[in-house]
Amino acid sequence: MARRKTASPAMAVRLQSVTKSYGSGDGRVIALDNVSLAVPAGTFTAVMGPSGSGKSTFLHCAAGLDRPTSGSVFLGDTDADLATMSENRLTELRRDRIGFVFQAFNLLDALNVRQNVTLPLRLAGRRTDRAHLADTLARVGLTDRARHLPSQLSGGQQQRVAIARALITKPDVVLADEPTGALDTVTARDILGLLRHTVDTAGQTIVMVTHDPVAASYADAVLFLADGRIVDTGAGYSADQIADRMTRLGARAA
Ligand code: ADP
Ligand code: MG
Repeated sequence: MARRKTASPAMAVRLQSVTKSYGSGDGRVIALDNVSLAVPAGTFTAVMGPSGSGKSTFLHCAAGLDRPTSGSVFLGDTDADLATMSENRLTELRRDRIGFVFQAFNLLDALNVRQNVTLPLRLAGRRTDRAHLADTLARVGLTDRARHLPSQLSGGQQQRVAIARALITKPDVVLADEPTGALDTVTARDILGLLRHTVDTAGQTIVMVTHDPVAASYADAVLFLADGRIVDTGAGYSADQIADRMTRLGARAA
């Protein structure tokens, strides 16, 4: 894979003029409208916006789950464009270089914690490094739960398993779609603290879609989407400032 020669500061994900439309003619919906963005490696970015503003489409395009109608998406320091990559290479790249965390955890019920966490490695035919596994379980506070099944864990613990599973491949970026949406307030704070800690101590890059201003306030930068466009970006916003910005975007809680 070709490597870029200039990489300072390193970017984990780059979108160049990404447009995604669905349908055609009168029924055409432009979900993302000429979005350009570079996410610096080792940072935590929150993506906010009203329902229908293109948040999920943005995440799916950045993840290679959805192909842009036009524009380019690059991961890490490579110049291979996800928008035009073959399905086979995209599958490999998603498996090896991207971590996902979903609102609904998406764990496999029949597998224990350790098996869920190492699943991406097994799918890739990669050997599990025992020290790295132990380290990853410790990082999410699940060392004592390695043999438990998801049904034996609380919601917060299940999301910790999903985070460990996302981290196990040491991905370029972890993409999270409303990761605290199914959790109570206290547990949500706990998970957000863990994501923040992962960025601060492991240099992990995280991009998180959320409609919760408090969740977004854990991030380094907040990106506001409206009608498929980035209408504002900011850093160091408090939850109140983010809520205020959302209100002015005409947002309603999703
Ligand atoms: P958000 O996640 O911010 O709620 P989405 O990215 O899901 O927004 O959707 C953005 C716009 O694209 C919406 O108008 C939505 O209806 C439309 N859209 C999303 N996916 C599809 C699809 N598969 N087919 C048609 N329209 C879609
Ligand atoms: Mg969505």
